[in-house]
Amino acid sequence: MALVRSEGIVLKTYALGDTSRIVCVYTRDHGLVKMVAKGARKSPSRFGVALEPLSRARFHFYLKPDRDLHLVSQTDTLDPIGVRIADLSRLAHAQAAVELLDRLVWGEEPHVELYDLLAATLVAAADAPAAALPAITIAFELQVASLLGYRPCLDACANCGGTLAPDRLFSPARGGLMCANCAAREIGLVRLSADALAGLALLLSRPVADAGQYLEVRRSGEILRVVDQFLRHHFQRFQGLRSLEVLRSLPQGAEENSWRN
Ligand SMILES: [Zn+2]
Repeated sequence: MALVRSEGIVLKTYALGDTSRIVCVYTRDHGLVKMVAKGARKSPSRFGVALEPLSRARFHFYLKPDRDLHLVSQTDTLDPIGVRIADLSRLAHAQAAVELLDRLVWGEEPHVELYDLLAATLVAAADAPAAALPAITIAFELQVASLLGYRPCLDACANCGGTLAPDRLFSPARGGLMCANCAAREIGLVRLSADALAGLALLLSRPVADAGQYLEVRRSGEILRVVDQFLRHHFQRFQGLRSLEVLRSLPQGAEENSWRN
């Protein structure tokens, strides 16, 4: 049993008995780790806001090989993102990022790029202009898929590698655009607008914090649907982002709302 230290982001927490808490943390150096914070509910000041959902903190914990639960001894809060987001729509987008990661990643396999992508996305969800939120969420989805080995293929036919059909036919099942030959034999194709395709390519390759620059709000619904279908085909554990459902019940009128339709 070793005392280790790693930066991490709180994905979710549960009560344990009357006084303690279980905290699921995506750590930079040890992947997904479930920790027990003894007495965290009895004396909340001990860990401050480090154990709140979406908080980024440095965790000192006893890592026991082959165990499910590890004991936290100390935390240093770095950025209490969940606490400083007051806006429901920002919170929904931040929670969507954490939800996606929780769905697609498991085990104590570290993935530094994935961790850094999540950290950058949560900061963007808290600080970027509100109109950029859908683009940030889509960029995160696309980049997570890429880091996990499913980068959408946009420069050649996703099935045979041939020259693309001019009408921008995307196959969520094949994971990319199609040539005319393969498209003729494929079902479930989505015809992308030129703007949507250009946006998709930029969202895949540029920093998530800038995503709002590459996607017009009125195109985000189109891309969100395509990316949703793509993820469903390639990740069995993905069944849509429940965190975004809450936005449907908010009053209409905000500029960013058009993407939901
Ligand atoms: Zn082809």
